[in-house]
Amino acid sequence: MSSSVALRLPSIDGLLRHPACAPLLERHGRESLLASLRQLLDELRSSVLNGQLSAVEISPDVLAGRVAERLAQQQRSNVRRVFNLTGTVLHTNLGRALLPDEAIDAVQMAARYPLNLEFDLASGKRGDRDDLIEGLIRELTGAEAVTVVNNNAAAVLLTLNSLGARKEGIISRGELIEIGGAFRIPDIMARAGVRLHEVGTTNRTHARDYEAAISPRSGLIMRVHASNYSIEGFTARVPTAELAELAHRHGLPLLEDLGSGSLLDLTRWGLPAEPTVRQALLDGADIVTFSGDKLLGGPQAGLIVGRKDLIAKIKKNPLKRALRVDKLTLAALEAVLGLYRDPDRLAERLPSLRLLTRPQADIFAQACRLQPAMAEVLGEPWQVSAVQALGMIGSGSQPVARLPSAALCLRPQVSKRLRGRFLLNLEAALRALPIPVLGRIDDDALWLDLRQLDDEPTWLAQLPQLQVES
Ligand SMILES: *Cc1c(COP(=O)(O)O)cnc(C)c1O
Repeated sequence: MSSSVALRLPSIDGLLRHPACAPLLERHGRESLLASLRQLLDELRSSVLNGQLSAVEISPDVLAGRVAERLAQQQRSNVRRVFNLTGTVLHTNLGRALLPDEAIDAVQMAARYPLNLEFDLASGKRGDRDDLIEGLIRELTGAEAVTVVNNNAAAVLLTLNSLGARKEGIISRGELIEIGGAFRIPDIMARAGVRLHEVGTTNRTHARDYEAAISPRSGLIMRVHASNYSIEGFTARVPTAELAELAHRHGLPLLEDLGSGSLLDLTRWGLPAEPTVRQALLDGADIVTFSGDKLLGGPQAGLIVGRKDLIAKIKKNPLKRALRVDKLTLAALEAVLGLYRDPDRLAERLPSLRLLTRPQADIFAQACRLQPAMAEVLGEPWQVSAVQALGMIGSGSQPVARLPSAALCLRPQVSKRLRGRFLLNLEAALRALPIPVLGRIDDDALWLDLRQLDDEPTWLAQLPQLQVES
């Protein structure tokens, strides 16, 4: 027991009436403030009884300050903006594509007002939400018909279930892939009620392998784009046109899951070639599925395009209702698709394409410009250099292709034994900034790839708050 007179915590009522709490009451309301004060006083009670706190530590001003911090913490939303300096542009864990202003305006409108989501303004009758984007998608892909669902995984599930349930789905062993987040083709097929009939081998599958698998039990042939890995060396794959011809000869539909897919040939912007949706349809695929938020650069969605009779069947499936998209997505998607009508200006207007096509020289100049500020904030023992780096498109587009980029390379000049800890501490400090900064650790350094740093002033302004533990 301490020898001094025992201190007493202020009363809740006293604190509530104290001027230090007035702004908190105004800002957070009586209930939240009261709950926070109670919690804090409860936590402090035993320390006060044991004489472990000074009079200052339990003064109303100090207590109000601590409660203010707690309330601010509670109020901060869980959904937070970050700086994606990982080098991966379409990063699935960081929300993939960024929407253009046109789409953001459309989302705002759709959020704020009633709209003709399923209402045909011409006839005054009930409409179909797919009609809002069908014309544009047909124009941009050459497809006969279109339907849109929540994401591409849903598009694949719905298509398989609608066209192949209780029948066999024939697919090459080289295409039985897993995409991140537990999307595995064999599992999706099973859930869709399609019996997997795998043919060929991991590296080589021939037309005769498909041919030999076809029987009265067959329901469809499926082709999946190897989005996140590549098979090189002694390989063979049947071209889509040939596979389509084979499928049609036996009266089977050919589904092609493009994953990322692209509406335009990306090589016109110097990017690695990615199959286009139009080409897959021209080659004879009956249904093509692809994502809205990968190379397309729009909101999360799964697009199903192709033959009119098959799309009609897909739309009749009750699962369609469970997987459909909401009005905000449709509004954003229509706005993004609209930009594709003017390909010459697409790279300026569509953020994902603008970021993917940013010239390396530009990014390197930015790295040189930011190097002194970063070096100054970090100080000893960090070596900060502006260097060339290699990034990725991400989201399963061109897994082996690298985007020439530039980065700030942050290297701790400490013994090998300490390096790991220094890097993890720096990584944690960058994550603790008001707008967390995410880079990547590689080769005993932390790399901040600047391809996606277009809000330089905000990034610089928060840098002095960096506090690295050592
Ligand atoms: C990404 C991908 C999917 C899943 O698409 P989501 O939009 O993430 O649901 C399916 N198939 C392939 C080939 C993919 O690349």
